[in-house]
Amino acid sequence: MLEEYARFTDSGTLRELELIARKLRGVKVLHVNSTKVGGGVAEILHRLVPLMNELGIECHWEVIRGDENFFRVTKKIHNLLHMPDKVSLSYEDILTYMRYTYENLSRVDTDPYDIVFIHDPQPLGLIVKKRPGQRWVWRCHIDVSSPDEETWRFVETFVNGYDAAIFHIPEFVKDGVRVPTFIIPPSIDPLHDKNRELERDFVVSTLERLGIDPGKPIVLQVSRFDRLKDPFGVIEAYRIVKRRMDCQLVLAGSFASDDPEGEEVYREVLKAKGEDPDIHVLNLPPDSHLEINALQRAAAVVVQKSIREGFGLVVSEGMWKGKPVVGSNIGGIRRQIIHGITGYLVNSTEGTAFRVKQLLADGDLRRRLGENARERVRHSFLIIRHLKDYLIVLLTLLEGREKPVDLLHAP
Ligand code: UDP
Repeated sequence: MLEEYARFTDSGTLRELELIARKLRGVKVLHVNSTKVGGGVAEILHRLVPLMNELGIECHWEVIRGDENFFRVTKKIHNLLHMPDKVSLSYEDILTYMRYTYENLSRVDTDPYDIVFIHDPQPLGLIVKKRPGQRWVWRCHIDVSSPDEETWRFVETFVNGYDAAIFHIPEFVKDGVRVPTFIIPPSIDPLHDKNRELERDFVVSTLERLGIDPGKPIVLQVSRFDRLKDPFGVIEAYRIVKRRMDCQLVLAGSFASDDPEGEEVYREVLKAKGEDPDIHVLNLPPDSHLEINALQRAAAVVVQKSIREGFGLVVSEGMWKGKPVVGSNIGGIRRQIIHGITGYLVNSTEGTAFRVKQLLADGDLRRRLGENARERVRHSFLIIRHLKDYLIVLLTLLEGREKPVDLLHAP
């Protein structure tokens, strides 16, 4: 499988990967997160774990268990890490978190592994299982640059018990983090159904099957039904565009099993859509990779109007399909889009509408920015680079280096 990536990278990189992996043969690695489906973390692990195994590293993936009570609390933590709200974590929330953490201690067997990667805050408390000789790494997928401070302090207490932490971008590393940090942006997999080339006929028939007019320009946002993705702001921006230009808006989403707010937000989005036949709100099964791929390929403009965003894989996914992306000037989105070169960074609903209109009116501009966008992803956000970054983390930790390696700024 690895050789199939040769056409997306240079042969030197693949060779380098094999050489690093050779030093890691026999190492046992565990990834733990809170859902197998829905959201960017699951999306990445589905690809990264098999590739690590192919390189001879024994890599497993476990999911912690919880019910609605637990995931309500962890979603609250997730939201509060993104930004403060009127209410912070209550003692009851903390008790609930601890109780489910305790239950998961016996469910997830971490002992056989040399390195354990814990993704995001949900399984963070498993650190109490760490045995001597192991290395535990917290992989943060959230923009924690301006959190609710109390919630961050709660999380930080656990994080500082780890051997290292990984963040997407340097701005997310908080002062209180006293463990070595690595900066690793996520990636997309060009061979995944979500991103591979598709026949034009398949794209058109998918649109028709989903009730979308293939002949009318499509403005697309793909996101879980989550307030932080601002679907309501996207609808508002579309309405401003629609006053001047004929187009249709597609909001494609799904639910994640660790996000109990999805259904409520979905219902509100349907209400906000009203009777407009040119707004398509698609609630897709979580494995609709080919459908999402087709929608991204069919779009004239891709939008990602998130209020907070750790990274936003959907931005790279759109860019990889040669689309200009109009994205909020925040978090990981800012890292992907180069303003005016690969798409546009925007700060408001009006700004979003302005850039969408500009792009809809100018096919040459769309093509030019779209080509640049694809090159940007090829260079920086494909899975081979990501895999190599992970291997370097493994090597660094197993060799017991004292100094953290900043992969972004490494020579
Ligand atoms: N996704 C999907 N179906 C949907 C909505 C999202 O397959 O209906 C995928 C999307 O293509 C991307 C991931 O879920 O690969 C979302 O990752 P992102 O980092 O954009 O956001 P997150 O959900 O992790 O906040």
